[in-house]
Amino acid sequence: MDPKHIAEIRLIIGDSSRVIVNPQIVEQLSRDFYWYSPVLRKQLDGKLGDVVVQPLSAAEIQKLLRYGYANNLPVTARGAGTGNYGQAVPLEGGVVLDLSRMDRIEEIQPEGVAVCQPGVRLGELENEARKAGWELRCYPSTIIKASIGGFLGGGSGGIGTVAHGYLRDFQTVRAIEVVTMEPEPRVILHEGEAVHEILHAWGTNGIITRIWLALTPAVEWSQCVAAFDSFAAAFDFGEKIATGAQWIKRLVTVFEWPIPSFFTPIRKYAPEGKTLIFFMIASSQLAELEAAAQEGGGTITHSAVYPGLNARPLLSDYTWNHTTLWAMRSDEAYTYLQCGFNPDTVREQMRQLRERFGQEFLFHMEFMKNGEGRVIPGAIPVVYYTTEERLNEMIDFCREIGVFVANPHVNNVEGGGRYRADNVQLLAKQRYDPKGLLNPGKMITFHSESATAGAKTK
Ligand SMILES: Cc1cc2nc3c(=O)[nH]c(=O)nc-3n(C[C@H](O)[C@H](O)[C@H](O)COP(=O)(O)OP(=O)(O)OC[C@H]3O[C@@H](n4cnc5c(N)ncnc54)[C@H](O)[C@@H]3O)c2cc1C
Repeated sequence: MDPKHIAEIRLIIGDSSRVIVNPQIVEQLSRDFYWYSPVLRKQLDGKLGDVVVQPLSAAEIQKLLRYGYANNLPVTARGAGTGNYGQAVPLEGGVVLDLSRMDRIEEIQPEGVAVCQPGVRLGELENEARKAGWELRCYPSTIIKASIGGFLGGGSGGIGTVAHGYLRDFQTVRAIEVVTMEPEPRVILHEGEAVHEILHAWGTNGIITRIWLALTPAVEWSQCVAAFDSFAAAFDFGEKIATGAQWIKRLVTVFEWPIPSFFTPIRKYAPEGKTLIFFMIASSQLAELEAAAQEGGGTITHSAVYPGLNARPLLSDYTWNHTTLWAMRSDEAYTYLQCGFNPDTVREQMRQLRERFGQEFLFHMEFMKNGEGRVIPGAIPVVYYTTEERLNEMIDFCREIGVFVANPHVNNVEGGGRYRADNVQLLAKQRYDPKGLLNPGKMITFHSESATAGAKTK
């Protein structure tokens, strides 16, 4: 980037400590967890921004984007950089817009809606919400570090999804305010259905500056680990609890052996060769759950009141996308997929996968509520990586037998499996970022000619 732009940006921001060119910091803040994927590692290593800017307000972002638009500077938003598909990696250099300083929880409204800035860490929001009698409906296993803006920009769900669906479901995101990348950047409020124009668009069609997030009444949680001799018995029991409406739960995760052997800090809860289920269950139902698990052939290896986010062990540290991290620590060749099974044929689908791929495809199942309110078995299987061809063979075979795959080894919004068929994210990009300067290269169906056409019709 021409040094004159850095000097101009310093004038715009008026505080040079928030305009960072130190190469180590720029490098650190240009990366995320893309190295999770052996495919993305090859594509994204060495991609860097030129400067990191840390705004404090929507007004400051407007000024910066006005300058960026006039001078054709790419701008890539960043929350905490815990995304694992290279979502926040700037492909064309330019400005890394680090939102971490916009970290104010403005209000927890009496009806259970949190109003906050994008840089608020989800763990902080959970703690504050609980003080007011509420809690997050769903959160990623990176809750402690991840920001709410990044969760809306690039995340999907996690702990709590078994009860409350994904972030995109059940009007969990009530409204989003974004700043646009136009000659005169606007601040636009998206409410109701219009939030889907911005959700999971990877910061390609606006910078999120304020969020209204629906919460749910707080529950006193306990954690419980049950060990089963066979995967089939564990899966049956996990499914029974996950789909049983009477159970108040936040997490039902089934790991086949040897996945539990990767969890070194809590290895004592994992008897050799057993399948484990991790539960977060209402404390009022803990005794009943333990009795049911024992009746179903399980043994309880850990059970305690949930210790809060700052104490350990925290079972969620081993679930959702964290499972893969533990597997990779054990053997770097492990990677992962993200799958949705058919609840009516899941056992047959799993049988076919085992028959075809054997131990290359290990079952880590997460139960989740879908948008229609049905609890279905999903999976973030731990897969053994040998070649890209073999990985694609696994993805193709899943799709052939009716298993949905959100491919975590692609670096664009459309390929990741959460792109909306109604194109609303693309249409919003055409209106709000006609030059394609926001996180360029990540929305591959966007072309600036169509953008011009789209912008004219507005
Ligand atoms: C070990 C591990 C476990 C994980 N578990 C889960 C999980 O359970 N569920 C899940 O959904 N994800 C999971 N993830 C992915 C990631 O942690 C979450 O999606 C998280 O919410 C991202 O937040 P972040 O602040 O780190 O976002 P970032 O990585 O900084 O950004 C994510 C995307 O959002 C965009 N963005 C950030 N801020 C803004 C903004 N203000 N305006 C517009 N766009 C913005 C960025 O440009 C980027 O495209 C996991 C990742 C890892 C490494």
